[in-house]
Amino acid sequence: MSPNPIQHQTFALTTPLYYVNALPHIGSAYTTVAADVVARFQRLLGHSVSFVTGTDEHGQKIQRTAQEKERDPQAYCDEVVACFEDLWQKLNIQYDSFSRTTASRHEAIVREFFQRVWDNGDIYLGQQKGWYCVACEEFKDEGELLEDHYCPLHPNRQVEWRDEENYFFRLSKYQPALEDLYKNQPDFIQPTMRRNEVLSFVQGGLQDFSISRVNMDWGFPVPENPEHTLYVWFDALLGYITGLLQPEDEPTLERVLERGYPFQLHLIGKDILRFHAVYWPAMLLSAGMPLPERVFGHGFLTKDGHKISKTLGNTVDPVDLVERFGSDAFRYYFMKEIEFGRDGDYNETRFINTINADLANDLGNLLNRTLGMARKYCGGSVPNLDVAGISPENPLKALGDSLTPQVRSAYESLAFHQACGASLSLVRAGNKYIDDRAPWSLYKQGEQAAVEEVLYSVLESVRLVAYLLSPVVPHLSTAIYGQLGYSTDFDQPQSVRETAPFEHHGTWGALPPGQSLNKPEPVFRRIEVPSA
Ligand SMILES: [Zn+2]
Repeated sequence: MSPNPIQHQTFALTTPLYYVNALPHIGSAYTTVAADVVARFQRLLGHSVSFVTGTDEHGQKIQRTAQEKERDPQAYCDEVVACFEDLWQKLNIQYDSFSRTTASRHEAIVREFFQRVWDNGDIYLGQQKGWYCVACEEFKDEGELLEDHYCPLHPNRQVEWRDEENYFFRLSKYQPALEDLYKNQPDFIQPTMRRNEVLSFVQGGLQDFSISRVNMDWGFPVPENPEHTLYVWFDALLGYITGLLQPEDEPTLERVLERGYPFQLHLIGKDILRFHAVYWPAMLLSAGMPLPERVFGHGFLTKDGHKISKTLGNTVDPVDLVERFGSDAFRYYFMKEIEFGRDGDYNETRFINTINADLANDLGNLLNRTLGMARKYCGGSVPNLDVAGISPENPLKALGDSLTPQVRSAYESLAFHQACGASLSLVRAGNKYIDDRAPWSLYKQGEQAAVEEVLYSVLESVRLVAYLLSPVVPHLSTAIYGQLGYSTDFDQPQSVRETAPFEHHGTWGALPPGQSLNKPEPVFRRIEVPSA
């Protein structure tokens, strides 16, 4: 069905490299699930994928946190990194590379990159005076601070006055090149509201930014002057590049270019947009490296309509959530209920209602009762009919034919809520169709051909939905495929390529007539509402 031949280039994407000053929070889990959905969808299309996640482990904040806990910074980082890896496993995240900025091969990449920028004349020594937020690891303009010099992003932390010698990166020199980039590549920053924020920031005039710190040694020494430590952001952004290296690779920029660089997509939260949409492309231009295709800044999460804040005791623990409800439910709620790019809310009642209504009732029960009827009326197999003979007037076929292009374009534009919503509309049409056609009465009237068309159409629609939702709910999709008589495992890209390639399974009508169905079993258990 795909009009374009499958491209064999690598689709490379990243989450941020998460800062290890604290355990993974719900926002990191949200970004990572979204990136995993994108990666899985690209694999479903048959593309090769390089999905990089990881951790940013340097900087003053880590050094201080480790000190407070009386820990060696590396030991402290190792411990927190293990918690990230553990959560990603629980959430069924299939990354290809976990990039740690404390890795020795990362230092080699940083040195080479720094040298290129240095040789290009874009680094100079200057005096940095200003207000510094250690939590942001960023200098702030006086004007953006709250009263009494509190950071707007960390309203419980005062910024610190700094007056020190730093190395600077000539960001100002790249203002025209960046403006050209935003003009010639209008999709470089998404969504549009984020693009507009960046455009107005850049129009305000770019200032050089400092890329080294003194009196701080948790980081890489500046190659030209080891009294200075490289600024954590300079080092962290380069962790994406290091992440593309295979374990056996020499750590060089040349090698990275053969490993799927540049990136098609950087997924980030809106708070780190400037680093990715302004500083990062300028650094890459200076080092003569190709630019990424797209930077997408998603929104923030709230809980029950309120800002999530540790200080307020208003947090959502992703570990607790996935342990109570499972990875599919977690993934589905955040992808379906929030328009990616906008702020979104977590509310437990809404979570439970959404999961029960969509996955347990509408989808799970539809499959279950249709399988029951197929056993009764069709001998436990997919009805043996001529699929090509199903009338285009059949409402499920009509919807099914248009669903794949719609869902595909939704995934490609990161409109996950639309991908889920469109898929669910076919499920709801399936429920309505079976009620309207009442195959149990058709059977009594001896209308066997009609019974078979109804049951086939519903089973096939459930199959197509399971296929298209597999990037979001891979366990559920595997269970549905199992019920329909397939052996496909949606957690195994190899299995999907061999048993369910997109060109065939992405089309309504792929379910083979006569295929043996399995004994109906619930594919998704309802979440029981805890009684108050
Ligand atoms: Zn701050």
